[in-house]
Amino acid sequence: MNTPNEPSFRESVDIMFNRAVALMDLSPGLEEKVRVCNATYTVRFGVRLRGQIQTFTGYRSVHSEHMEPVKGGIRYSMGVNQNEVEALAALMSYKCALVEAPFGGSKGGLCIDPRQYDESELELITRRFAYELIKRDLINPSQNVPAPDMGTGEREMAWIADQYKRMNTTDINGSACVTGKPTNAGGIQGRTEATGRGVQYALHEFFRDSEGKKKAGLEGTLDGKKVVVQGLGNVGYHAAKFLSEEDGCKITGIIERDGALVNPDGLDVEAVRTWIAENDGVSGYTGGTYVKDGASVLEQDCDILIPAALEGVINLSNAERVTAPLIIEAANGPVTAGADDILRAKGTVIIPDMYANAGGVTVSYFEWVKNLSHIRFGRMQRRQEEARHQLIIDELERLSSDSGIGWELSPNFKQKYLRGAGELELVRSGLDDTMRAAYQSMASVWHERDDVDDLRTAAYLVSIGKIADSYRAKGL
Ligand code: NAD
Repeated sequence: MNTPNEPSFRESVDIMFNRAVALMDLSPGLEEKVRVCNATYTVRFGVRLRGQIQTFTGYRSVHSEHMEPVKGGIRYSMGVNQNEVEALAALMSYKCALVEAPFGGSKGGLCIDPRQYDESELELITRRFAYELIKRDLINPSQNVPAPDMGTGEREMAWIADQYKRMNTTDINGSACVTGKPTNAGGIQGRTEATGRGVQYALHEFFRDSEGKKKAGLEGTLDGKKVVVQGLGNVGYHAAKFLSEEDGCKITGIIERDGALVNPDGLDVEAVRTWIAENDGVSGYTGGTYVKDGASVLEQDCDILIPAALEGVINLSNAERVTAPLIIEAANGPVTAGADDILRAKGTVIIPDMYANAGGVTVSYFEWVKNLSHIRFGRMQRRQEEARHQLIIDELERLSSDSGIGWELSPNFKQKYLRGAGELELVRSGLDDTMRAAYQSMASVWHERDDVDDLRTAAYLVSIGKIADSYRAKGL
């Protein structure tokens, strides 16, 4: 997506990294160690499909092993290449450090358009790719744990987990070799929605930060804010759905592959999603105006712009015309380094990818822990918690009646209070806590240091600092 005179995605990540380390006191050797990608494995494998052998090219890149396992999604897209996978692996290292998920960074990709294959063909391809990675320990519960990314989801993760278990029949922790699995195959509730949910929690925290809001020129709460979303896939759909249904945002623009929909009164996210699933695009949907040049809608007047599709979409060719005061990078790398300079100069506030979309890896961390502990979160304590709450309710009601005061607890309060936390509530609570804490760590650097004028540099400072500490502790 980058314009010809722009650095590649990998170079963009390095430019942003270099901007941050220039403000740090790291030895040049350590700086280099944190920046470089440790290893990238390229595999070409053949699968017999439709009567002939087709060869596919896949990658698994390991950026930093300061903590193991390393973690990062597997992407299925025609745009996959070594440069992209390495950039994404580097972002994973910084992301995990920022949200304190105890992993190094990794990423994988397969150069394929998944829409060209049916389910059984995709299963054959995925199992073969997984086989190639598993036999080299590039998928392994203690060394390298993938997750979904663009073009992959629960289904592919279930195939990968099953393939690992077939090849490692005595590994009791086999389910922990991959996250983002369906709940009936070792997954955790709330993982599918996690990245979009994390975007929502990030915005909640931003709107609690009055200094941050002032810098963006925004006021009030999320209620009534105009939001444009690019990409109504896993991340974009969940973010748009929660922001419109729960926070009162108006989704005034949705950009997809074949164009965009706009509606100043707000689009019905659920209806658009259904339309896309049935018609393979947004054109023809009648609840909004169709715009053929979808990318132009990135420049539309709105309060919050959420790029949630692919990298490099805001670049030197359009950054000047992007008017949103707040951009939250739900996708990885949607703003190039050059565009970042232009936007910062204009005063646009960017909530950076390594924080904004960290909800996915955070809940993946919970899933991995669940798989290793072999028990669902909440299973031991839920009923005990409910019984203790019941005791308090009974006692309050007894006191009220014995004293003649005659207070009555409202049925709504009783119902909410009595309900012990199940897995989904615990996952959401852990995610919310993580997103709040990570925002605070970035925002304190952003607001307190005179030499830091943006959240991205602040995020890099926090995460590089943590990775460097970890390398130092290892004696490197
Ligand atoms: P997805 O495949 O579910 O959705 C991507 C969406 O973008 C699809 O609806 C697709 O049609 C649309 N799209 C593709 N090309 C487009 C274009 N040129 N213009 C507009 N829309 C286009 O992928 P996803 O999992 O939602 O991932 C989206 C982004 O979020 C990626 O950058 C990914 O790395 C990042 N991310 C995903 C997760 C996760 O948990 N899935 C976690 C962290 C980050």
